[in-house]
Amino acid sequence: MKTILEIQRIDRQIRALEREVEKCPASIDFKNYKKLLQDGRARFEQLEAQASELIKQYNIELSKYNKLKGTSEIVHKRNTDSIDLDNIESLITDANSLVGDLSEENRKIDDLVRKSEEIVRKSAELSNKLTEAKKRSTVIKARIEQKKQEVAPKIAELQKQIQKLEQSVVDKDKYEKYKTMKANGIFPVFVPLEGDFCGGCKVELSLNFIEKLKHSKMLTCEHCGRIIMINQ
Ligand SMILES: [Zn+2]
Repeated sequence: MKTILEIQRIDRQIRALEREVEKCPASIDFKNYKKLLQDGRARFEQLEAQASELIKQYNIELSKYNKLKGTSEIVHKRNTDSIDLDNIESLITDANSLVGDLSEENRKIDDLVRKSEEIVRKSAELSNKLTEAKKRSTVIKARIEQKKQEVAPKIAELQKQIQKLEQSVVDKDKYEKYKTMKANGIFPVFVPLEGDFCGGCKVELSLNFIEKLKHSKMLTCEHCGRIIMINQ
């Protein structure tokens, strides 16, 4: 058991070094960069949806406009072909309302064109921003790589120490369990009893649990799954 605990101690040092890489400024920059890309992608999708909605509206308004224009040509023909005093008033009214409708449609179409220009402008802006970010990411990655290189020999040295210790592990089953739990992200695997609390998750343990633990010397915490030990 002593050997396994020694391995756990070294594993803890390795974890600390790995965390140094995770927490270094470049890694944080990289996380922000990824967030920026995700947000950017979402924004593009939004703009795309807006654009396709605009195109739909544009087509509707355009067909309305063309229909009105068709009507205006009929009125125009009627106006010249069969002009007489009885229908001139109604023709003028029709023509006037057509002019009104046509300019309303025209205004709507202009409005849609302006909106689509706005989308094009925003997309270009976003594209530039992401291109800039991408350039920066190369620098960030290099800095993370440098940090990794910095800790790599230390980690390798510690891993060598673990390999050496592994040969003298007596309780192979327990060590296998240690490795499995560690791989599942439960770390440290073996924790002490701290008063009436689990040394891993700090949850207060029941008297019944502590009694059992005193008897067996080693018991799995019901809250965090770590193995609580006493007097090893
Ligand atoms: Zn616990």
